[in-house]
Amino acid sequence: MQLEEAKALRESWGDKPCNHPSFADEYMFGSKTGDFVCEQCGQTFTKREKDKLGQATNPKLDQFLQQKDLIKERLDTLFRRKDQLAAVAQSKSGNPVLLLEALLKDQEQLILRAEELLWAMDQK
Ligand SMILES: [Zn+2]
Repeated sequence: MQLEEAKALRESWGDKPCNHPSFADEYMFGSKTGDFVCEQCGQTFTKREKDKLGQATNPKLDQFLQQKDLIKERLDTLFRRKDQLAAVAQSKSGNPVLLLEALLKDQEQLILRAEELLWAMDQK
């Protein structure tokens, strides 16, 4: 988008709030300036600002990524416990029942997390 177009867009958009839904490359005298223009309100952003906005305006994605991390952590714990349990079961010392209970609890949490994630993804 040319600087002039962006300026015209800014003037016609006025002071209304804008959620900056999409961006175009900003052009000056036919070449890219490296900045970006909101295609709705004409405001100019640096690439950094634009990327930051993209993250902030996508809370759903943040939520998914957070859930994904939680599930990954839980899976790691699950695998660790499984190894511990296997070791205890082989050595016949320690308490495999306790470990098995912990393992089941972790598994339960993992399933809950996965269900939450699936539920959240259905709500878009
Ligand atoms: Zn905008």
